[in-house]
Amino acid sequence: MKRIGFIYGLLFCLVLSVAAQGKVVKLKIVETSDVHGNYYPYNFITRHEWKGSLARIYSFVQKEREQYKENLILLDNGDILQGQPTAYYYNYIDTVSPHLCSEMMNFMKYDAGNMGNHDVETGRAVFDRWIATCDFPVLGANIIDTSTGKPHLAPYKVLERDGVKIVVLGMITPAIPAWLSENLWKGLRFDDMEETARKWMKIIREKENPDLVIGLFHAGQEAFKMSGKYNENASLNVAKNVPGFDIVLMGHDHARECKKVMNVAGDSVLIIDPASNGIVLSNVDVTLKPVSYTHLRAHETRHDLVCRLLLEKKKKSYLVCLLLLEKKKTKKHIP
Ligand SMILES: [Zn+2]
Repeated sequence: MKRIGFIYGLLFCLVLSVAAQGKVVKLKIVETSDVHGNYYPYNFITRHEWKGSLARIYSFVQKEREQYKENLILLDNGDILQGQPTAYYYNYIDTVSPHLCSEMMNFMKYDAGNMGNHDVETGRAVFDRWIATCDFPVLGANIIDTSTGKPHLAPYKVLERDGVKIVVLGMITPAIPAWLSENLWKGLRFDDMEETARKWMKIIREKENPDLVIGLFHAGQEAFKMSGKYNENASLNVAKNVPGFDIVLMGHDHARECKKVMNVAGDSVLIIDPASNGIVLSNVDVTLKPVSYTHLRAHETRHDLVCRLLLEKKKKSYLVCLLLLEKKKTKKHIP
């Protein structure tokens, strides 16, 4: 297989209606996932310049911030603490200095992070320390503290941009016990994603009344029962079976994806996956158009109203294209 000589962003333009405001609001959602310690464009294992990296993503994000400013929302979907020796060094060798990963992510102004199975693999001492030094919440609605029965991390993050309320719900693949020994995640359990999403979607819609709901799931789309009991890659199932998500940002499977699916309520959901190592990023443009409150029926949330109007008028439209983020010639080909 030929090595791909380009760095792409998956660009998806999503047009939604919002009941709140009298003006059009444009947002850009950027997702990284499975960066695996690729903070710099240099592979410290092979000792060669390498593709992708947080550094290159930062260049892209800063360029986009010139236009979008605070309306650019930067999210990471986990598996960022393991891979390159740079991550290993700050995980296990120098455990006193600020962790390079949190330092870089804070500098880049991430709005939220998420836990991946390889982040759990570093052990509680490492990932709890990393989370404590992040200026943004690392989410985990289905990572439960067994002593309290409550989530160990924040289940979701609320963001407000230009009067638009955005909720990001974070979850991890629950198959952790199939891969990792319990001493690495002692005191925690990992609940089923679909059950957890159903529970939190009800709370989010009643308590937050959001305009846009984003699922940030460290799980792929090929549903598979790991060890006969853990639904490893439940992202697509959640997008389809739990109404309320507008966008589901996937990860974990290192497989590039960008498509829309129909959920059980008849509403479409964008699912997108940037694969790994910060070579590709998910780049979603969202345009929110105003809808009058006068259409609001009794017991109807803003999100319900928008979904109903969209279905009635069939106004929801999508445009998919690939954005060339950076062109980079490669000399070598991998057979
Ligand atoms: Zn990964």
